[in-house]
Amino acid sequence: MQKGLLILISGASGTGKGTVCKKFLSEMPETYYSISATTRQPREGETDGVEYFFITVEEFKKKIAEGKFLEYAEVYGNFYGTPLYKIEEHLNRGENVLLEIDTQGALNVMKKIPDGVYIFLLPPSLEELYNRIKNRGTESEEDLRRRLDSARQEIEVGKKYQYAVINDSVDLAVEKIKSIVAAESLKVERQLELFQNFFSKRGALRCQ
Ligand code: 5GP
Repeated sequence: MQKGLLILISGASGTGKGTVCKKFLSEMPETYYSISATTRQPREGETDGVEYFFITVEEFKKKIAEGKFLEYAEVYGNFYGTPLYKIEEHLNRGENVLLEIDTQGALNVMKKIPDGVYIFLLPPSLEELYNRIKNRGTESEEDLRRRLDSARQEIEVGKKYQYAVINDSVDLAVEKIKSIVAAESLKVERQLELFQNFFSKRGALRCQ
């Protein structure tokens, strides 16, 4: 059976990753979304076990010690980690897995899973990014400035990804991501099993 694709999406804060990933998942419901653990406080409207597993710093450190994360990183003063649990299981079942994580974490996953599909989401411009975070109204002025500074650094790291998608329209960005996933799953190296049929004894007999 063809293994599922590990699809990793990153983008600076305010790029709209969350919205793009939600729409992608609604259109590709067979994709398994990996819910990260975080030590940050839930924002209004967020539910434990839906957007994140909200845990304490102590619980987070315990999980690091127990090797429970595929990767983890400190982002804007909070810890975020990708639970290892279930990712391999879903990939082996042939299901695609979607991770939405920051660039530090992504670089670590790239080393561990080199055949993953790495997509960097870009905002249309830095001004637009500033307005989007400000309009969200969930960050203090200090947090906003911190997020903009790291946005520039994250965009620089974006050059290490395989694909870059501008999020000027959510619908278009999702269509582009779906095309990337479709093309990736058709790569010869992912479908070597198909070729075996043509060289098996039964296949050869049929042609005689
Ligand atoms: P937010 O607090 O806005 O939900 O997320 C802040 C940043 O943390 C985003 O860039 C998001 O992609 C990243 N993030 C979310 N989950 C993980 C994770 O499991 N690992 C890493 N390294 N980053 C994550």
